[in-house]
Parts: sequence; structure tokens; C-alpha cells
Amino acid sequence: MRPPGAQSGFSQLCNGCGACARACPEALIIRHEIRQEGPAGGSTPVVDFSKAACTFCGACAAACETGALRSEAVSDWPWRAVITDSCLSLNGISCRSCEDACAPRAIRFRLMTGGRAAPELDTAQCTGCGACAATCPAGAVAFERPAPVAEGSG
Ligand code: SF4
Ligand code: SF4
Ligand code: SF4
Repeated sequence: MRPPGAQSGFSQLCNGCGACARACPEALIIRHEIRQEGPAGGSTPVVDFSKAACTFCGACAAACETGALRSEAVSDWPWRAVITDSCLSLNGISCRSCEDACAPRAIRFRLMTGGRAAPELDTAQCTGCGACAATCPAGAVAFERPAPVAEGSG
């Protein structure tokens, strides 16, 4: 997943300078090593929700001088959370961490047999902020794009 505001043709526009990563107050932009991609031929930025969530503050896009990230596109973040089968609650271990972390209340739990509870995610409410992923002890939250978007956003 590219940082918010990523443009079509991101790989060609990004020069790997790292300004976006340094600007992020949540420190969630990391370098992803991709050989032969981008003018720099080295690493390009991706978001990592394993430790922090995005606030969509736009600091990353504001810091980008190449046009690879654009401030006006930050609100077009295309990713939405999905919960995978490794979810603890789904497997009978008590956990509601993601529900507690989700500000828009996009996650609810449906009781099942055997002490299990299935997380159900309302994609319409989800902002794709990553707070659920950052708090999940099982690494059970993934992200997908519900609707097709232009190349370069991920
Ligand atoms: S929008 Fe803000 S919090 Fe999100 S990745 Fe960019 S700088 Fe970090
Ligand atoms: S935080 Fe992770 S393990 Fe816990 S209920 Fe949510 S998805 Fe499942
Ligand atoms: S990505 Fe954010 S809004 Fe979406 S379910 Fe997770 S915590 Fe809630």
C-alpha cells in the first residue's frame, strides 16, 4: 500500500527520497526495497499498519516534491480492512481489540457456537485507517481495495 495521495504512475514519479516517511508523525511509512523500480532503482515507500494507524493528516503528501503523492488525493485512500481466518475471536479465543480501536465503529461481532465470535466489518464505515491492524495481536487484519482504482495507489 502506497502512502495516501499516491498518484497513477507512482513508481515512475517517486524518486525514493524518503521525505514522506520523515514527515509522517505516526512513523508508519517504511521503505520497501524494489529493485529496478522507480528512477532511484532502490526503495520506495509503503505504509505499515503493524504498529500505528493513519490519521490522514496529509503530511506525507505535503512533503512530497515529485508529485508522486498529492495532497488533494489524500482523502481518496482506496484501502479497506478485511479480517482473515487467523482472527483469535473466530477461533474461540477472547479478543475484541480491533472493535475497541475502531473509531467509526465499523467492526461488530456475531456470536457463534463454541464460544467463538465472528468479526463483521462494515466496509461502508471503514476508513482504512489501520487502527485495527495496529492493535490486532494475531496479525489477522489485511487490506483490500473494494473498487478498482487507478494504478499507483498500491
Ligand atoms: S496521512 Fe499523515 S499519518 Fe497518514 S501516512 Fe501520511 S503523514 Fe502518516
Ligand atoms: S484484534 Fe485481531 S484477533 Fe482480535 S478480534 Fe480483531 S481481528 Fe480478531
Ligand atoms: S481500518 Fe480503521 S475504520 Fe476500518 S475497521 Fe480498521 S480501525 Fe475501523
